[in-house]
Amino acid sequence: MRRKLVIGNWKMYTTAATARELTAAVVAGLGDERRVGVALCPPFPYLAAVGDAIRGSAVLLGAQNCHDERQGAFTGEVSAPMLLDLGCRYVIIGHSERRHKLCEHNDFINRKVKAALEVGLTVILCLGETLEEREAGRVAGVLEEQLNQDLLGVKPDALSRLALAYEPVWAIGTGRNATPQQAENVHSFLRMQISGRYGEETGQALPILYGGSVKPDNAASLLQLPNVDGGLIGGASLVADQFLAIVRAAL
Ligand code: PEP
Repeated sequence: MRRKLVIGNWKMYTTAATARELTAAVVAGLGDERRVGVALCPPFPYLAAVGDAIRGSAVLLGAQNCHDERQGAFTGEVSAPMLLDLGCRYVIIGHSERRHKLCEHNDFINRKVKAALEVGLTVILCLGETLEEREAGRVAGVLEEQLNQDLLGVKPDALSRLALAYEPVWAIGTGRNATPQQAENVHSFLRMQISGRYGEETGQALPILYGGSVKPDNAASLLQLPNVDGGLIGGASLVADQFLAIVRAAL
């Protein structure tokens, strides 16, 4: 049985003060609830403070990105070992905002995935099609291509530290979510793809999260689907009550 996972992606929001308040509210609201895994991914400057504030609680720390090199002359970048050093368990890689707005390509994403797995982080690899690709009937082809390229050379023994997040680009931050049927179809397709590449047992164990306009009022219909193992939550993770309601909907 896969444990559900709900991850808050704060994107480039919060201040030092609001990050502290939001973390405190999530920690207090979650209490000892450990049936669902919960992680917060604040902006880099607040990782250490959020890490301090969650210490001893059920909440885990994640980052929104990392570089593929361990260190070096890469001004403005943050490496996977640095994230580990700060107490991160998770790192989001391949978010569509980075793919589409910051021109990140699959070969770079693939190098980051391998770098993060190598140091022991758990990777949340985001995949998803644009509206144009969906309307052209290309969902399966696009996702298969992303999997092929992003997981190139990823060894089977690292798969226990991989989660996928299916995030249709047209659903992120738009208020328009995938229907439960659309989400379930894609998630079972992704599971089949991983089983085909890494074996049935690995495919069955893989957490596949849904992301894209998950809110308290639609969370249960998405997060209780057989092949949906939790959510990657953007906007609603910035409001403690909404985020906690989504965590409860995953129970
Ligand atoms: C995201 O940032 O990954 C996301 C799913 O955002 P939102 O929930 O705001 O659509």
